[in-house]
Amino acid sequence: MKCSKCDRDAVIRIPYANLYLCKEHLNEYLEERVERTMRKYGMLKGVKRIAVAVSGGKDSTSLLHILHRLSQRLGFEVIGVTIDLGIDSGRAYSSRSVEVAVKNFEALRVPYRVVSLKREYGFTVEDAKRGLRRPVCSSCGLAKRYVLSQVAEEEKADALATGHNLNDMAQFVMMGYYSGDVENLARLEPVSPPKFYSHYKIKPLFLTYEKEIMTFALVNGIPFMIESCPLSWRVGGTTQEAIRRKLEEMEEQIPGFMLRLVETFVNKVRGPLAEKYVREEEVSKCKVCGRPTVKGRDICSFCAMRLKLAKSQGVSKVS
Ligand code: AMP
Ligand code: ZN
Ligand code: ZN
Repeated sequence: MKCSKCDRDAVIRIPYANLYLCKEHLNEYLEERVERTMRKYGMLKGVKRIAVAVSGGKDSTSLLHILHRLSQRLGFEVIGVTIDLGIDSGRAYSSRSVEVAVKNFEALRVPYRVVSLKREYGFTVEDAKRGLRRPVCSSCGLAKRYVLSQVAEEEKADALATGHNLNDMAQFVMMGYYSGDVENLARLEPVSPPKFYSHYKIKPLFLTYEKEIMTFALVNGIPFMIESCPLSWRVGGTTQEAIRRKLEEMEEQIPGFMLRLVETFVNKVRGPLAEKYVREEEVSKCKVCGRPTVKGRDICSFCAMRLKLAKSQGVSKVS
């Protein structure tokens, strides 16, 4: 098929917009889409420096490339951040992810930070899996949130951007309805204003389909890790994955379904939910790391996790 905008061959069909696009027009389309999303949801207001959290996967590496392309025209700087989670038994998953992230930072010449969980905080996600009773993805998520916020603060970034895409958001919305976790649902937003810290958290790809991002990465020859984390793999798949597949089927039958689902949620449903279920949390200071934590707690949940892990490893003190 030919591109709907020029004579070149199309590399992708975008059913909900009734378009076929060549590589150049897909690039233009995605840049415009991300810019529009960022403007509409206030992701650019007062933002001069964006820390981009890059895992090495297609979404965050593509986000890095798109924000890098937009940065000059929109007047912000980009800095890359990648965390070495230490998931290296067997296939060196983390080492290879870090390598891919760094390859992208260097190709684009963006300044970057690599943070090793082991070196800077004394444990790996594999240690957390062995030593703690909580699900490993939850320990890993906590560690990532803590470390990324820490780096964004240290680097004086006004915003921390993650690669969550439209399919991820649609899945979170459905999982939230399914489980009735209204508080988490109310916190599911494309832009979270600074609460404990001084930076916004933003998801510039939250209205962009996974397929468009995957095609963008492939046709532009962007290096990325295809495989997913070996620790999140489950026999028979998870409920989340089943919901995700069903959403993709719905999308085939009703082009634009996920877009509508997520836009409706963010524009109409989330606000009233937040009013009803989200309370302003007062802040106090973690006695171990000195960073903000919920009032009434002596130590933050990250330090609590480190202490528990240190105990399980027979270490008596966490520095
Ligand atoms: P996940 O929680 O793995 O679905 O990842 C969601 C987003 O978090 C990614 O799109 C990245 O922006 C960020 N992220 C995940 N893993 C890492 C990592 N190891 N280092 C830096 N950012 C990450
Ligand atoms: Zn074209
Ligand atoms: Zn702490």
